[in-house]
Amino acid sequence: MPFFSQYDEQLTPAEMELVGRARRFCAGAFSAAIHEAYLRGEPFAREWITEWAALGMLGLQAKAEHGGHEASFLCKIRVAQEMARHGFAAAFCLNNLQGQVTRISLHGSDEQRRHVLEPLRSGAILAAPAMTEPSGGSDLGSLATTARRVDGGWSISGTKSWVTNGTIVDGITLLARMDEGGELATFFVSLGGGDSVGCHEILLPGARSFRLAALELRDHFVPDWALLSRPGEALRAAMEAVNAARVHVAAMAVASLHAALCEATRYCSSRQTFGKPLLAHQGLQWELAEVSIRLEAAHALVFRAAQLVNSRLPAVTAAAQCKKFAVDTAIWGIGQCIRTMGAIGASGTQRLSMQLAEVRLAAFGDGTNEIMLDRIGRSLAKDYADPVGSEHRS
Ligand SMILES: Cc1cc2nc3c(=O)[nH]c(=O)nc-3n(C[C@H](O)[C@H](O)[C@H](O)COP(=O)(O)OP(=O)(O)OC[C@H]3O[C@@H](n4cnc5c(N)ncnc54)[C@H](O)[C@@H]3O)c2cc1C
Repeated sequence: MPFFSQYDEQLTPAEMELVGRARRFCAGAFSAAIHEAYLRGEPFAREWITEWAALGMLGLQAKAEHGGHEASFLCKIRVAQEMARHGFAAAFCLNNLQGQVTRISLHGSDEQRRHVLEPLRSGAILAAPAMTEPSGGSDLGSLATTARRVDGGWSISGTKSWVTNGTIVDGITLLARMDEGGELATFFVSLGGGDSVGCHEILLPGARSFRLAALELRDHFVPDWALLSRPGEALRAAMEAVNAARVHVAAMAVASLHAALCEATRYCSSRQTFGKPLLAHQGLQWELAEVSIRLEAAHALVFRAAQLVNSRLPAVTAAAQCKKFAVDTAIWGIGQCIRTMGAIGASGTQRLSMQLAEVRLAAFGDGTNEIMLDRIGRSLAKDYADPVGSEHRS
């Protein structure tokens, strides 16, 4: 049974065509280009984002009336997995951009759509979510960026850190605290023009393709139409998006590990030591066998959570369980794949070191391992105390 078949069986022919389109793009010149950029210590070229957008991929889940494909969550995952097989950070970043298009298409107002939807869908402008602050990302309730009511809009002050694609985005969906009342709201903040925005790259050696940055806003004006989630609604909406993101990050980690295991298995089947292929040495064979077990377990856990999100069922615990397990498994498993290949596994001729450096960061983005355990722990009594199995698992 092909590795991704449980997803593919549930996709429509049009969605399968999108997955095929993504596969051809990712396996083409793009694959070598992102690896070469990593070897040079640079992010992959901005032009690839334009090409991805030209394929219609940023509008993957946008409504058809907005030029999108209305793809399901399972299809979104499969498209992301096709890219994650070649480069985890690239997949993370392009999904992140796509998420902002989906948000405006599905939940934006007519005026918001008129201002930014088409440029976002076509890749003419890029946007990222900005919630984390330098004081910490786990405790979102403590964020300090403020929005002050002014004539015709709001004035925003504060610093957002670890913004994916932050060095190149033209806008951010920013979570801020209203200075009157103290509730949280989300705004679409255009960053261009004037000196009220500062951008500082957060240097991550080996993982610069995330293009992480801190963005500092100093009395930065946003107009009335830019309010995306009203005070009191924003945190819930943000957490819903983060919850789904946990599942597709986990799915991408699975795809990166699957590609690494395929690579290691191929190599170990052909390289000979002591008169036989590496894979014929039982000790080494068992190490890759162990990787395959945990990979399949992560794959199953992610699929369960993905189906829940796809069906709009509660998935907080399932998302946290699959993200923690899939990311930990990918970090460990890619390391094992590198090791079984000998020194060449760690060399620049292979992309496994790049994948490991990038997947490692997935243990922080969209919530750390400890925060995943915290979410799961809070539901233990509800999910597991009933000896015959709870009907209310989340
Ligand atoms: C590649 C990448 C991309 C990212 N993209 C974005 C983005 O686009 N937008 C955005 O807003 N943010 C983004 N982030 C930020 C990410 O969401 C935060 O890094 C994350 O939420 C953790 O916040 P922190 O790094 O400030 O750690 P902190 O919150 O300071 O936590 C530090 C450590 O303490 C642990 N900890 C915290 N609270 C508890 C607790 N209650 N119990 C036990 N342990 C605890 C954490 O698990 C962590 O190990 C990104 C991060 C990375 C690495």
